[in-house]
Amino acid sequence: MDKERLKKIIDDPDYIPGIYNYCDGWCERCTMTSKCSNYALEKEYFPNDESKDINNQKFWDRISDMFRITLEMLEETAGERGIDLDSIDNTVIEERRLIKEEAGEKECVVMAKRYGKDVKLWFEASEDMLKQKEEILKSHLEMELPGTHPEKEAAEIKEVIDVILWYQHQIYVKLMRAVTGKLDGFQDEIEDMPKDQNGSAKVALLGIDRSIAAWGTMLQQFPEKENSILDILVLLERIRKKTETFFPDARSFKRPGFD
Ligand code: SF4
Repeated sequence: MDKERLKKIIDDPDYIPGIYNYCDGWCERCTMTSKCSNYALEKEYFPNDESKDINNQKFWDRISDMFRITLEMLEETAGERGIDLDSIDNTVIEERRLIKEEAGEKECVVMAKRYGKDVKLWFEASEDMLKQKEEILKSHLEMELPGTHPEKEAAEIKEVIDVILWYQHQIYVKLMRAVTGKLDGFQDEIEDMPKDQNGSAKVALLGIDRSIAAWGTMLQQFPEKENSILDILVLLERIRKKTETFFPDARSFKRPGFD
């Protein structure tokens, strides 16, 4: 792909500008793929499994191609705006570093980071139990036991685990972006503009909501793990409350294409 082709996709009016900024990145499940230039670009660059294989040279060639074009476009835009990329002020970089540091200490961010780790530990500690459950469901399927629905149950467990793992770290990443945006205060100077920080916080909140629902199903499926699952649910609920308090306008943020 060349720069012109990239620009053509980005400027295509069929795509909703910025839709990809406030989604959860789960393209496989997204209902807005036809409206997303990010999705179109990914399909253009990585049209098949072979092109996505990190062990394949073609994957790295495409990544380097994409990097080169992006750099060219950045230099072009900087030139148009009279920005000298070689003279970026070190104080700005230091300010950004300090803001990120401060953001990383906010309660909702700290708890979201802990949540990611707790989920990892939970799955590590539950490996045997999950295997046992798999065996039980398989035997129910073979025995065709009346009143059991092993296939349905297995699909439900897989679904909620997929959801939990998808949002496991994303909640932290989105909250970090939201809090950083709020602390730097840049957007506060622009009136009447939807604030990116609220959009990012909303994506985090949606991830929290879905994770809470998924853990609720895990609790029904694995009552023997009640204590540890309740601990996780309490943590998620606390992250949710702190986020809603820190970003009171997040829930009402209108995400382009989705809300
Ligand atoms: S909007 Fe949908 S298709 Fe586009 S990046 Fe987000 S999840 Fe993927």
